[in-house]
Amino acid sequence: MPWSPSILNLPWMTITKIEAVDPVRIEADYTGPVRCPHCASERLRKKAPFVRQVRHESIGQRLVWLVLRGYKYLCRACGRYFRQRFPGLLSYQRATEPFKSEVCQDHHDGICQSRLARRMRLGTATLERWYHRFLERKMAERLNAACPRVLGIDEHFFTRKAGYATTFCDLRKHRVFDVVLGRSETALEGYLARLKGKERVRVVCMDLSGTYRAIVRRHFPRALIVADRFHVIRLIGHHIHQLWRQIDPTQRWNRGLLSLLRRREDRLDPQQYQALAAYFQAQPAIAALSRFKQELWELLRPRGLNPPACRPLIRELLDRIWQLKNSPFPTLAALGQTVEDWQEEIARMWRFRRNNGITEGFHTKMEMISRRAFGFKNFDNYRLRVRACCC
Ligand SMILES: [Zn+2]
Repeated sequence: MPWSPSILNLPWMTITKIEAVDPVRIEADYTGPVRCPHCASERLRKKAPFVRQVRHESIGQRLVWLVLRGYKYLCRACGRYFRQRFPGLLSYQRATEPFKSEVCQDHHDGICQSRLARRMRLGTATLERWYHRFLERKMAERLNAACPRVLGIDEHFFTRKAGYATTFCDLRKHRVFDVVLGRSETALEGYLARLKGKERVRVVCMDLSGTYRAIVRRHFPRALIVADRFHVIRLIGHHIHQLWRQIDPTQRWNRGLLSLLRRREDRLDPQQYQALAAYFQAQPAIAALSRFKQELWELLRPRGLNPPACRPLIRELLDRIWQLKNSPFPTLAALGQTVEDWQEEIARMWRFRRNNGITEGFHTKMEMISRRAFGFKNFDNYRLRVRACCC
C-alpha cells in the first residue's frame, strides 16, 4: 500500500506498517543518506540493527508511537562506531521534536499542565522541562530584537522578597519588550548600559516618577518623554479628593458620594447628577473645587493634536498651574508644583496617542501568569515566561 511519507512530518521516512489501535503504532524506515557524525564520511559498514520506539505527533485524538529501525555503523574513514541518527529525533530522546512542539504549543495556548500530561500520558516534570526549552527557544528568536521606537515604562510588584520589577513595553507592537528586576537607578543601570539600539527610541511614556525620568534622560538621549494620561488624571483626582476630605470631614466615609465625585461629569446618569447637585448646593466650596477638577481633566483629554492646536491648550495649562500654585491650600499648591515640574511631559500628551494603558494591561496578564504558576521565586524563569507570553 503506498503511504505518503509527508504524513509523518519527518523527512526521509517511509511507513512500513500501521497498527491503527489506540495508541497508534507506526513502523517506519529511514531511507535518507547516512553519514558519520564525526567526520561526515559516507564510507560506512552496516553492523547490528536496533529499534527505537518513540512518541510522535497525535493523529486526531489518538496518541502515536513511532517504531524506527536503524543500524549501528562502522565508519571506514575514521574507524569509529556510531548509532544511526534520525532527522527530527535527538539523541537519547524518547519523543520526536514535532511531538514536543505539539505538546508545548498546547500548553502555551492555555491547556493546564496536569490535564495535558494526563491526556498525553507524560509526566508533569517532563512537560515542564520541554516547555521551559520551548520558551528559551522562543526568547532566543527575540534576543537581538531592536529597541522599540515607542517605549512604555512602568513598575509592577514581583514578590515580597525581591520587591518591584520594571516593565519595558513596545507600545506600537503591543508587546512586552523586557522585564527587569528592581525600579531604582542602580538596579536598572547594568541592564540599560548593556542594551543595544537605544538611539532608536523616540518616545518614552511613563508615570510621573522622577527616577524613571532621570534614567530615560541619561540612557535614551533621543527620546521625548511623555507623561501617562491615566496617571496624571489620577494624581489630580487624588489631590483634589484629599482636599475635599479636609473641607468636609463628615462625608469622609461616604463611599457613594466619593464614587460620584470620582467620575467624569458627562458620564453621570440623571439620578446621580441630581444627587451630586444637591450635595454641591449645600457645599459651594466643594462645587467650585469639583468644577476646577473637571475642567482640568477635560483640558488633558485631547490627543493626537497638531502643534497649532496645542498652543491655546498650553496657555490654559500654564494658567491652571499658576492658579494651583497660588492656592491657599497646601495640597493644591503641592499639586501645582508637581504639574509644573512635569509641564513639558504633560503638554506632549496632546501630541501623542499612545499611553501606558497597554503596559497596565500587560501587568494584569503578568499577575495571571504568576498566579497560574503559584508564584515565581526565580526572576529569570518569570522573565522567560512573561516575554514568551506577553507578545
Ligand atoms: Zn567517521
